[in-house]
Amino acid sequence: MKTIQAYRYALDLTPGQERAVLAHAGAARVAYNWGLARVKAVLDQRAAERTYGIGDDQLTPTMSWTLPALRRTWNATKADVAPWWRECSKEAFNTGLDALARALKNWSDSRSGKRAGRPVGFPRFKSRRRSTPSVRFTTGAIRVEPDRKHVTLPRLGRLKLHESARKLARRLDNGTARIMSATVRRDGGRWHVAFCVEVERAERTPARPSSVIGVDVGIKHLAVLSTGELVDNTRHLAGTQTRMRALGRALSRKIGPDRRTGRRASNRWQRAAHRLGRAHARVSNLRCDGLHKLATRLAREHGTIVVEDLNVAGMLANRRLAKHIADAGFAQIRRQLAYKTGWNGGRLIVADRWYPSSKTCSGCGAVKTKLALSEREYTCTTCGLVLDRDLNAARNLAALAAQFDTAGSGPVAGRGAIRKTQLAGREAVKRQPGTATAGQTGTVPPQGGTTDRVLTKVH
Ligand SMILES: [Zn+2]
Repeated sequence: MKTIQAYRYALDLTPGQERAVLAHAGAARVAYNWGLARVKAVLDQRAAERTYGIGDDQLTPTMSWTLPALRRTWNATKADVAPWWRECSKEAFNTGLDALARALKNWSDSRSGKRAGRPVGFPRFKSRRRSTPSVRFTTGAIRVEPDRKHVTLPRLGRLKLHESARKLARRLDNGTARIMSATVRRDGGRWHVAFCVEVERAERTPARPSSVIGVDVGIKHLAVLSTGELVDNTRHLAGTQTRMRALGRALSRKIGPDRRTGRRASNRWQRAAHRLGRAHARVSNLRCDGLHKLATRLAREHGTIVVEDLNVAGMLANRRLAKHIADAGFAQIRRQLAYKTGWNGGRLIVADRWYPSSKTCSGCGAVKTKLALSEREYTCTTCGLVLDRDLNAARNLAALAAQFDTAGSGPVAGRGAIRKTQLAGREAVKRQPGTATAGQTGTVPPQGGTTDRVLTKVH
């Protein structure tokens, strides 16, 4: 099974190397801003000409914003725009132009309705202070050194890794991996290199292929499983929050930048901001670690995992819940489970967003019309079942898998297939097995929804 995956390592850069990387990231930004200014100028010119009543054939010709076209124009003009261009790898400029080409494509696709999701705005200029310095290399000498503690990148040379790259090196040695690109980037006040790698993964099966598990991603706990297991949040998360508050207070006491008066931030402010940034990064790392460990464990063990499709963007608008939900990383775990079940030969079923997993009784199937978020215990008025709210939801989710199998195509579909069904059960009848593409997740229609029609058809 061929997959594209990333291997990311922290770097220990010398001050000289850091300057070189920053220069490359700056070059990427220059190319990006240059291209954006050109495209904008042409667009504005055409708009102005139209207001004068100039015919469409008389307008300033459009400018192609595909990557090859941008690169051609850049190469023709770089001597004027950036006389220092020889000091940086051409990959640096390519990074910026590629980002611009994508940004413009996303914007135009979004405008013409070709792109789903939220509307994408017109790209904005990148600022030195606010953008994340990053540069990507796609060609040239990219390799992991035999000592597995260093990597070599074009122009930047040999960079020391903070940790051993043995997992990637092993794959490279036995020929099951091919590096496609390497990105050096600063996040959380630390430099990282991320290799985009095409990996030939061995086919695997979960330890218990017939096992079904429902996962209810919670607020109090990281997750509640239908087996009754409560997965806790990472231990140090609460401790780091205290520290973050203290650092935030310390920052607010120092003299920060002021856009109106043009005041520059003091050195002390910058150091405090850096410390706060590192604390944020630590929280994010801790959370990420917890989610990865949970997702890996579940995907290795169980054949079928059922989760809920939560409207995270909608929930984040709820201010009181926002922090907790963002913390739990709902969307993250969904995404991780999707690809990890694929790697391990299991499957992920995503319950429809409107499926009342919390309001349904896992014992008798009765559905409550109302259930306040404060009610942590589920009490069924029909059969008298009393159960933890999240556990009840997890059990309902697990029960969905059986329904999915009868309603759908009978036996379990091909390994690694995440079944793509039509949106929200509206066209559940048309569902075909094996039409899944990796990275997409299916949805299961709610109980008592359109599935009934399929069920009557089967029997
Ligand atoms: Zn009941």
